[in-house]
Amino acid sequence: MLTTLQAARYTIRGMSLGGVYTSIHVPELDALFDCGFPLRASAAVTNLFLSHGHVDHVGALPALLGIRGLHGVRKNLRIFLPAALGPAVEEALTVISRLHRWPLTVDLVPMEPGQEVHLRNDLNVRAFKTYHPVPSLGYLFINRVKKLLPQYAGLPGDEIGRLRRTGAEIFREDPRYELAYATDTLPTVLDREPALFDARVLILECTFLDQKKSVADARAGCHIHLDELLPYAHRFRNEALVLMHFSQLYSPADVRRLLAERCPPEMRRILRSFAPETESWPG
Ligand SMILES: [Zn+2]
Ligand SMILES: [Zn+2]
Repeated sequence: MLTTLQAARYTIRGMSLGGVYTSIHVPELDALFDCGFPLRASAAVTNLFLSHGHVDHVGALPALLGIRGLHGVRKNLRIFLPAALGPAVEEALTVISRLHRWPLTVDLVPMEPGQEVHLRNDLNVRAFKTYHPVPSLGYLFINRVKKLLPQYAGLPGDEIGRLRRTGAEIFREDPRYELAYATDTLPTVLDREPALFDARVLILECTFLDQKKSVADARAGCHIHLDELLPYAHRFRNEALVLMHFSQLYSPADVRRLLAERCPPEMRRILRSFAPETESWPG
C-alpha cells in the first residue's frame, strides 16, 4: 500500500494525501519528510524533517517513536523543524510519554529560513521559507563537493597535502542541489527559492488539479493548484519532479489522468506522480 518510485538516483517511498497524511522516506539521504503516518519499515531513519505542525504532517510522530522503541533503535531520532515548533513538540512528547509510560526522547534541531546544517560527508541541508498560514519550512539538500583548482591539477598527492597544511586556497566549492522538499505552500516558493528548479529531484505539493477547486480557494488554503504550476513548466531543470499531497477530491487514477492530460511534454518528461497504483488511497 505504500508508494515507491525512483526519481533520478533517489528512492521515494511512503504515503501522501493532502490533509490526511504525508510521510515520505528517501533512504539514500537517510531522511524522512514529515510524519503523518508511521512508516514501519522506515522507523530506524536518522533524520526527520518536519515541514510544519499540521497533524497530517506531524500527527504520527509518537507512533513512529513507539515503533523505534519496539525495534530497539537506540539512537534518538533527530528532528529538523521550524524553530517556532520546538516547544510545542517537546510538550506534546512529554504528555504522550506520560500516557505511554516510557520516555519518547528526540533530538530537536530548530531551523530558521536560510540556515544550513552539515549532515554527513559533503552533504548539507538548508531550510527555506514556504508560504502557509502557520510556521513552515522546506528543505534543500546540497552536496558541497570540493574541486581542486585547475592550476593545481596534476600535482602529486603529497604536494597537495603540503599546500593544504599551509592553508592555501587550492579547492573551489562546487555545490550541487540534490533534492528539495516543499509542501503546504503557495507557489510563491518557486519565485523566492529558484534553487528548487535546479535540484536533481524536486518533491513538491500540488494539492488541486482541476476546476473541482478554484485557484482562489487553493490560494486561500495556501496550497498549489496545477493551474498555477503550469506557467512554470518550462523552468523545471530537475531530473525528476515528484508531485504529491493531492486532495481526496481525486482518486489515484484521476491524478495520473489529469497530470497526463494537462501537463506539457517538457514537464511530463520529468514528472512522477506520488500516487499508488491502487484504485483508492490507502487507509
Ligand atoms: Zn498538508
Ligand atoms: Zn498544512
